[in-house]
Amino acid sequence: MSKYMTRQRKVLLSYLSGHADELLSAQEIADALGPEAMSLSAVYRNLSELEGEGKLRRASKGNQREIYYQYIDAESCKGALHLSCKKCGKTFHMEPEAACQLLDAVARMEGFAVDKSDTVLYGVCGGCQEEKER
Ligand SMILES: [Zn+2]
Ligand SMILES: [Zn+2]
Repeated sequence: MSKYMTRQRKVLLSYLSGHADELLSAQEIADALGPEAMSLSAVYRNLSELEGEGKLRRASKGNQREIYYQYIDAESCKGALHLSCKKCGKTFHMEPEAACQLLDAVARMEGFAVDKSDTVLYGVCGGCQEEKER
């Protein structure tokens, strides 16, 4: 890996770690970093590398076609079970106790050990449910 790539990667990683769990498109990231920092194609290249390393996952927001990336390697994300809202695209960390009970139940009843770091539950968040009722 060239020095140039390494520097870009650092810039990208520091940006992403400040925006853990947010859904960001490559274009949004490129805009935030500015053209001097990184071109859009460099953003794409680095994102796909990070995805390959398991630091990012791809996500979609509602019915939008655009691909979003979510940084999941942040310290706060380790060991958390993620809940992802299909409406607003926000991601939440499940209460550790609730996550523990859920995974325990799956382990007990299914004999299946869920990999928390690789699991996301999709649904509709409290905020979006309230909006509907209004
Ligand atoms: Zn997280
Ligand atoms: Zn929501």
